[in-house]
Amino acid sequence: MTCSRRKFVLGMGSVIFFSAPVFSALGKAEKGAPVRYAMIHDEVKCNGCNICTVACHKVNKVPTGAARMSIAHIAMTPPESGNTYHFFRHSCQQCEDAPCITVCPTGASYRDDSNGIVRVDKPKCIGCSYCISACPYQVRYLNPVTHVADKCDFCLESRLMKGFTPICVSACPQNALIFGREDSDVVQNWLKTHDYYEYQLPNVGKPHLYRRPGPHEVKKVNA
Ligand code: SF4
Ligand code: SF4
Ligand code: SF4
Repeated sequence: MTCSRRKFVLGMGSVIFFSAPVFSALGKAEKGAPVRYAMIHDEVKCNGCNICTVACHKVNKVPTGAARMSIAHIAMTPPESGNTYHFFRHSCQQCEDAPCITVCPTGASYRDDSNGIVRVDKPKCIGCSYCISACPYQVRYLNPVTHVADKCDFCLESRLMKGFTPICVSACPQNALIFGREDSDVVQNWLKTHDYYEYQLPNVGKPHLYRRPGPHEVKKVNA
């Protein structure tokens, strides 16, 4: 059963990585269809370790106190009996009809038509933070050093353009993250064979982040 409209109540509103180049090309649109990339977070496999977050921080040079992504630990049971969590990926969803793009006064926040990824054109950004306020998922931040808005770009600049998959995907020890062109066999076959949902808020378009719902049992350390 596909549960793309399934709703969840969310309570939030020295590591070296090796991987071989696997992306031969940042794809071109076939028959005029726009290229889109997709990320899948398999919450059943995820154990909440946040190694992905640490890897993202290092590879994308995210300043201390900021983040392009995180895995929220949402308790599903009362504290006295609880050891079940919902691990929820918090990162840019590369939305269609993205408000972060429409509010930007300079065009610095834009969708790259060659790959569909929502990006920030650094020289154009004036640091007004309009895009940060407009994102309903609160996944953008203003870099305190460069004074430029930043967020997950699917590692386009740090990895994809060099032929590597996003570092969070490569670093995950649980293989809980899957990435590829949305029309690829790897993504489409996964979507056909798993339950999944998309977390979409009002007044923003379809996300390109899919999630397999998986409350996760965690063993108590001090039981
Ligand atoms: S590295 Fe993988 S298992 Fe760990 S929190 Fe991230 S997605 Fe989950
Ligand atoms: S999640 Fe936020 S920053 Fe990312 S495309 Fe959507 S509105 Fe923009
Ligand atoms: S795709 Fe890259 S930028 Fe986005 S969360 Fe993963 S590691 Fe960070």
